[in-house]
Amino acid sequence: MGVFDAIGLDTHEEVLFGYDRVSGLRSIIAIHSTALGPALGGTRFFVYPDEEAALVDVLRLSKGMTYKSAAAGLDLGGGKAVIVADADTVKSERLLRAYGNVIDSLGGRYITAQDVGTTTEDMAMIRRQTRWVAGLPVEDGGSGDPSPATARGVVAAMRAVAERLWGNEALNDRTVAVQGVGKVGSDLVARLVELGANVIATDVNQAALDAVATDHGAKIVGLDDIYDTECDIFAPCALGASLSADTIPRLRCAAVVGSANNQLAEEGDADRLTANGILYAPDFVVNSGGIIDVASGVDGYRPESAGLAIDRIKAAVTAILDRAEQRGINPHRAAEEVAEERIASVGPLRHRYR
Ligand code: NAD
Repeated sequence: MGVFDAIGLDTHEEVLFGYDRVSGLRSIIAIHSTALGPALGGTRFFVYPDEEAALVDVLRLSKGMTYKSAAAGLDLGGGKAVIVADADTVKSERLLRAYGNVIDSLGGRYITAQDVGTTTEDMAMIRRQTRWVAGLPVEDGGSGDPSPATARGVVAAMRAVAERLWGNEALNDRTVAVQGVGKVGSDLVARLVELGANVIATDVNQAALDAVATDHGAKIVGLDDIYDTECDIFAPCALGASLSADTIPRLRCAAVVGSANNQLAEEGDADRLTANGILYAPDFVVNSGGIIDVASGVDGYRPESAGLAIDRIKAAVTAILDRAEQRGINPHRAAEEVAEERIASVGPLRHRYR
């Protein structure tokens, strides 16, 4: 597929290819939409099988950011970037600063942040070339690692779901099966146990599992067994596409509420969950705590107001579940509608203001 065909599919505004021969920088920044504000999204440092795979990924991810920020009520558009290389071997001061120049050339239309393969320290280095960086280290006055904020938002979403299903937002004595106990999942386990919930966990990383078992008393199950585990809430917090035609019929939960991006393997899986009697809280709303936290750091980080904004994910999920019920659509589509309507109604005002 040609570049313009790929961009045209989801009507992205702009794609910028960056190159620095000396450091080996090969970056792609995709701006999907600036209708609601500058396009904010992380930089993924990743080895892709080929350039097309990198382009397809950055286009998909940047569109996802448009929906996430719009549904979260932020004055931000959607963007994302990839640096196509092995972070362990080529990441250097020169490369990050050259990349900073590429971002700077967009004059604020794109704001970067950390993602897979990049750290808050990398953001501090990029910041030396451009001011269009969020998610700086806490010691530099930034919001730092967004994972705890993301986990806080997942708990808020779980409260909305608990209230809907069981008439009470309390999570004590509920059983939650957490798939993936990395940065978000492990923080989520700690919060749930603190609230009195029972946690069952799985992960490919034995050390991560040992930590949640020892520190929080989580029960451990095998990687594949997590799908058959009887629980109240299944929380995908590892990779995308864990909800599919194969796994959904196996689930023995009342609801799915997790942090992973792109949990549905295909569009029809949202209806498949409904058909199986499982309430699905849309991933890009559930996991928006991270972007809310990072966004609040763009103009000077205030942790208290960021925390309160993250807790409002509970109300956002409730509104989406109401809408899904009223319109007879699945919650994923209801969340997309919320984002699309906000872009359509507020976007033109913003352009006029500028
Ligand atoms: P992470 O890499 O720290 O954790 C992912 C964990 O999943 C790791 O411990 C890994 O070993 C485990 N894992 C990988 N494959 C697995 C499998 N097949 N089964 C079970 N476990 C498996 O990443 P993270 O930052 O905790 O993010 C988790 C998910 O949440 C990702 O999908 C990410 O895109 C999404 N997310 C994260 C944030 C954030 O603030 N970090 C924000 C929004 C969305």
